[in-house]
Amino acid sequence: MEVSKGELLYEGKAKRLYHSADPDELVMEFKDSLTAFDAVKKGTLEQKGAINNRISAFLMSELNAAGIETSFIKRLDDTHSLVRNVRIVPLEVIVRYEAHGSLCRRYGIAAGTVIDPPLVETGYKNDALHDPFLTDEIAVLMGLATRDELARLRYLALIAGEKLKEIYARAGVRLLDFKLEFGRYSPVQPGPDGQSQPTRLILADEITPDTCRLVDSATGEKLDKDLFRFDLGDIGEGYRKLLSKIEGA
Ligand code: 5GP
Repeated sequence: MEVSKGELLYEGKAKRLYHSADPDELVMEFKDSLTAFDAVKKGTLEQKGAINNRISAFLMSELNAAGIETSFIKRLDDTHSLVRNVRIVPLEVIVRYEAHGSLCRRYGIAAGTVIDPPLVETGYKNDALHDPFLTDEIAVLMGLATRDELARLRYLALIAGEKLKEIYARAGVRLLDFKLEFGRYSPVQPGPDGQSQPTRLILADEITPDTCRLVDSATGEKLDKDLFRFDLGDIGEGYRKLLSKIEGA
């Protein structure tokens, strides 16, 4: 069945967003493109859109079921999902359980250092500036979020992280770190009580091996985008293995 989608609203590196018949909902399409280092490194992976659509749908549904509201509504076909129409907060919220990637590069911390309690960082979502690390003071100064919103984002990221760790662990996968994005959701339609609904912050975008660092708990094999970033192995095999592990758990 052909997915019914309206005009293209936005095209990003890994996804496209289209209008739908309902102003509160958008159609999200996952592309096969791969990018790293602010799109300096580019590639494609056949079936990547379909794999990531399934992985994100699975994880977001579990979060919704656990009472952590996300923008995900339902998967429509291989590469499309229906999502809530949010205004994305231009922040990346990163949660780390082990030191890897930019944390090691920035501060010289040894890769693999356990981080307990987990570290939550915020970055400014801006490719041209390379998504710089932000303090709350700078985020408030720039008008990106209020202090209350920043505290709420941090809290939501930590509780989502606990649930994600649990889902991955069930599949024999260890979550090392991840990035989340949030959106402000102001529904046009009234709520179930007929009243207009207040704006609320909900988890948005995607949760996939593009946005998480993951290893097979038994073998230590990497199952995420670092395979592409640093040419560490077959990314298609890694992503397919991850999908079958989480769907089969
Ligand atoms: P790092 O800051 O170490 O590069 O990334 C930490 C975690 O957040 C990793 O799981 C990484 O995949 C994710 N992450 C950080 N920034 C981005 C980004 O701009 N795009 C994507 N897809 N993931 C990101």
